Amino acid sequence: MGKIISIANQKGGVGKTTTSVNLGACLAHIGKKVLLVDIDPQGNATSGAGIDKGDVQQCIYDVLVDDIDIKEVIKATGVERLDSVPATIQLAGAEIELVPTISREVRLKRALATVKDDYDYILIDCPPSLGLLTLNALTASDAVLIPVQCEYYALEGLSQLLSTVRLVQKHLNQELKIEGVLLTMLDARTNLGIQVIEEVKKYFQDKVYRTIIPRNVRLSEAPSHGEPIIIYDSKSRGAEVYLDLAKEVAMNG
Ligand code: ADP
Ligand code: MG
Repeated sequence: MGKIISIANQKGGVGKTTTSVNLGACLAHIGKKVLLVDIDPQGNATSGAGIDKGDVQQCIYDVLVDDIDIKEVIKATGVERLDSVPATIQLAGAEIELVPTISREVRLKRALATVKDDYDYILIDCPPSLGLLTLNALTASDAVLIPVQCEYYALEGLSQLLSTVRLVQKHLNQELKIEGVLLTMLDARTNLGIQVIEEVKKYFQDKVYRTIIPRNVRLSEAPSHGEPIIIYDSKSRGAEVYLDLAKEVAMNG
């Protein structure tokens, strides 16, 4: 049965989408069957995995709001063993449209239950908020992976995320675990990065992944080519580290 992991942090620009796409592609590269679910209306994980949003007729919106079978929405990507559930800007309405609906927090969980056995990993790329879409992701997940950017105030906002995780554990999903904390965009030329690593490790201890993602320009170029880093430039440092992360995640089960 597949393990469902949300990639979440309500801060924008910390590397959620980059991690979802590239961890997904690297897990596929090492032989795992992976489903990448985009629940950010910006749809960056969709285009980053090589899916043209203009070609998407039905997306995760239709699954969450109109109860469309998720199997009808799944698309293959250019990466072997990596499938995608796309999101388009239409999803922006879901946050409000879901409010008055029945069992609004468990819609994604119910949809994913029907495909969980078809995959080894299901990764959910969350939007930069703690609204209903992120609640759906956390409710559906076995674990949450939290990317933290190596910058000043790295820990800021994390207490809010952790208290949301605790609320979900209490009311919606007792099984939810913290999969790990991933340090991203480390600039090795500054001392600040080292300080942030120490600070985050002090707070999260053994939950911090050994793999640390450095700043790598190839990682920022890959999305505009619609290719995960392992396809765009398999020899790059970015490809190396996301492959390391995939092995670390796979080792955790
Ligand atoms: P989020 O999904 O949390 O908003 P993204 O993954 O979209 O964050 O990353 C924000 C920006 O930083 C994007 O332009 C992305 O290409 C870039 N980026 C992410 N990780 C790296 C990295 N390790 N090195 C260089 N650029 C990165
Ligand atoms: Mg994103």
